[in-house]
Amino acid sequence: MDRLNLQGVGMTSQRTRDRLIQRLIDQGCSNLAVLETMSNTPRHLFLDEALAHRAYEDTALPIGHGQTLSQPYIVARMTETLIASCNDLNGGQGGPKKVLEIGTGSGYQTAILAQLVDEVWTVERIRPLQELARKRMRKLGLNNIRFKHADGGFGWPEQGPFDGILSAAAPRTVPDELKQQLAPNGVLVIPVGAEEQYLTLVIREGDSDNFTTQKLEAVRFVPLLSGVTR
Ligand code: SAH
Repeated sequence: MDRLNLQGVGMTSQRTRDRLIQRLIDQGCSNLAVLETMSNTPRHLFLDEALAHRAYEDTALPIGHGQTLSQPYIVARMTETLIASCNDLNGGQGGPKKVLEIGTGSGYQTAILAQLVDEVWTVERIRPLQELARKRMRKLGLNNIRFKHADGGFGWPEQGPFDGILSAAAPRTVPDELKQQLAPNGVLVIPVGAEEQYLTLVIREGDSDNFTTQKLEAVRFVPLLSGVTR
């Protein structure tokens, strides 16, 4: 890929990107590692060329197949919730190392995670979206990501447990399979609900089978659907 395309020009320039980061800070996002990663990750490369000029607006954008690239504010909030909660539970000794993502979509959230944790395992049910995301990771030189074409509502049991799980699609209730795949003190960040959705934080208490659940802010995500499409 040529350098100009990666760095961006005009509506995808660093200046435009920095304005978005400032907006995230103004909205209360404060994790420097997350903000820096978002500042350095070219969101315009995760969109169709016709939409690239809108990449640094703080808004969700269509990626085809009726799906959307999540709003930057939501990506920042979910990522910092995951990382800060894991770090706190770990006595400040560091964030999650092994993370499962449900709903790869464009791969933007995947790319952010991959720069902040050791391993990302990501599941997507729409094959063409997954293939595109895979190509983008190759272009960006991110090689700590493993992809699976499956119904992520069941997690990735063969690869669990995970220190963190993040879902970009909303089930009506938290799937038990995902909770079961949390490591001790593991953290799940997931939108839950149908008409009314809330970002929800589920934490495994130590190595027990008990979980605490905390309702965070109201959000609007695409639904977690069952089965896969080719
Ligand atoms: N983080 C992505 C969000 C994409 S939208 C991005 O910013 O691009 C949510 C994604 O979840 C869609 O791609 C959708 O196909 C996927 N999805 C929905 N239900 C799913 C399921 N059961 N298993 C895996 N992926 C699912």
